[in-house]
Amino acid sequence: MELKNYTETVARQILKELVNKKQLDVCTCEQCLLDVLAMALNNLPPHYYVSNQGEVYSKLLATSNEFKIRVVTELTKAAIKVKNNPRH
Ligand SMILES: [Zn+2]
Repeated sequence: MELKNYTETVARQILKELVNKKQLDVCTCEQCLLDVLAMALNNLPPHYYVSNQGEVYSKLLATSNEFKIRVVTELTKAAIKVKNNPRH
């Protein structure tokens, strides 16, 4: 059993999708991507849950569009900040 932050799970997934589809104008080195993730997560409410393996995916599918859009918005804002001030 593991304590997980559902917001983080969703944000990591969406960040990966945005980068794969080249919809995020940011450097994709590990430092920059983690900075984007950290910045976005600081602006989003955490949702902690106790995880069993395999459970995460079905939760992801059930994520509301409204929440996804909020995550995308925060990731996009964070990407702009990191791009203008990269730490790598
Ligand atoms: Zn970088």
